[in-house]
Amino acid sequence: AEKFGIKQALKDLGIKDINEGTSTGAEFFGSGEIIESYSPVDGSLIGKVKTTSKEDYEKVMTAATEGFKSWKTMPAPLRGEIVRKFNEELRRLKEPLGKLVSYEMGKSYQEGLGEVQEMIDICDFAVGLSRQLHGLTMHSERPGHRMYEQYHPLGVVGIISAFNFPVAVWSWNTALAWVCGDACVWKGSEKTPITSVACQKIAARVFEENNVPAGISCLVTGDYKVGEMMTTDNRIPLISATGSTRMGRIVASKVAERLGNSLLELGGNNAIIVTPDADIKMTVIGAVFGAVGTAGQRCTSTRRLIIHESIYDKVKDAIVAAYKQLSIGNPLDENNHMGPLIDKDAVKNYQNALTKVVEEGGNIIVEGGVLEGEGFESGCYVKPAIAEAKNSYEIVQHETFAPVLYMMKYSGNIEDAMELQNGVKQGLSSAIMTNNLREAEYFLSVNGSDCGIANVNIGTSGAEIGGAFGGEKDTGGGRESGSDAWKVYMRRQTNTINYTTELPLSQGIKFDL
Ligand code: NAD
Repeated sequence: AEKFGIKQALKDLGIKDINEGTSTGAEFFGSGEIIESYSPVDGSLIGKVKTTSKEDYEKVMTAATEGFKSWKTMPAPLRGEIVRKFNEELRRLKEPLGKLVSYEMGKSYQEGLGEVQEMIDICDFAVGLSRQLHGLTMHSERPGHRMYEQYHPLGVVGIISAFNFPVAVWSWNTALAWVCGDACVWKGSEKTPITSVACQKIAARVFEENNVPAGISCLVTGDYKVGEMMTTDNRIPLISATGSTRMGRIVASKVAERLGNSLLELGGNNAIIVTPDADIKMTVIGAVFGAVGTAGQRCTSTRRLIIHESIYDKVKDAIVAAYKQLSIGNPLDENNHMGPLIDKDAVKNYQNALTKVVEEGGNIIVEGGVLEGEGFESGCYVKPAIAEAKNSYEIVQHETFAPVLYMMKYSGNIEDAMELQNGVKQGLSSAIMTNNLREAEYFLSVNGSDCGIANVNIGTSGAEIGGAFGGEKDTGGGRESGSDAWKVYMRRQTNTINYTTELPLSQGIKFDL
């Protein structure tokens, strides 16, 4: 940690006392049980955070509800100005925050910096958006009437996020929710509590300096029990939850029970179709980065490769050769391509998947295994593996959050590949590698990919903030980040104004008195 400047990064981020917990602003600290955060990079303790007790939670909700009252009346462009100032801090702190993300979560330093860059980008987007929260005007069917719609702030937004994007997902939600006039209560992952504290501190400082109520940005800490305080809370009209499909089902039903809204960003099972017209070099880069980047722990990671039989061996050999060149180790060392998994449970899931695929008849073509010895003391480093498998295998149907890639053949035409690609429960990201216009257009057509993200000659992994992000089926149907995803953070109101002295009814209904 010392060698890679983690102590300095924590200092730069204003985290002095590792026993510190935090909730709203800097006002008070959590008083619940303590969670310890160990780095998967070297196994050492980064810090301890006090979790949010029921009493703490009530204080947080009071602060958020109170904060919302004044925040919602501030003109949206002025709220955008606060987000702009927050963004300046992110730009200043990009390196230490990126480093902390890498150290606490285990992704490469480059990807840690990339995550902070996403925060910066979404803030830029949100600042512009703060002057564009517009609705439509419509022609009324009644004479002398004007009809239009407007968007008002929604209230307190609850954000529950996963460990694998410990900072970006928060900002995708908060940057938009803030300009929309909402207060945010965030429960980050219990696996990455220190990065959550770091983010909260940045926001709290900016808000304090600008005389904005601290409750606009609140942090609660803990596991699903704290999450449940939020999902069952009537004071939170929208829960935005990112994580496993298992979690999403529970959250969706709890929120639906009280008729709240939920925005769900859940698991993926993403495939790249490689057709006879694919550029093999691009395919190899897209597939290998997609499968091993972030050690296969992205919701958009490439899990399946669906390759036409005529080029199957060629593609397989090229990818196997590329895997031989991968170096695995400390993600803060930029010579390494892949870092560790988040924890030892994730290592077990990875091992189980490899056992299961063989039991079901799969053929391992790139051996996996847990790495041991110097540099791998945390026990979280594994070798990326490839298995030839059938789409129908239970393990292939399941999202294993690890660098395990399943390779399969298709014969016939693009329709056959499409059937395999869509033949899973999840519907997040998808890609086709082809220079054939007909195949590419079919893939994007109504009969093509059923996913929220469909790429041509790009892998499945990663996305830009400008588009709406999310997926269908077991991925939960939510969309966040760019395009018009902001609308979910506001309530829409239709207004009709009569400027005559008559009161005609709609649909020509007569009601004379
Ligand atoms: P997880 O489901 O274990 O946890 C996610 C969050 O949900 C955590 O904060 C956790 O404490 C909370 N949680 C769990 N059960 C809850 C409950 N009953 N009520 C309220 N909150 C609860 O997921 P993880 O292991 O942290 O992350 C990996 C998963 O996240 C993968 O499935 C991945 O695909 C998915 N993911 C999806 C997206 C997306 O945008 N679609 C993005 C990132 C991650």
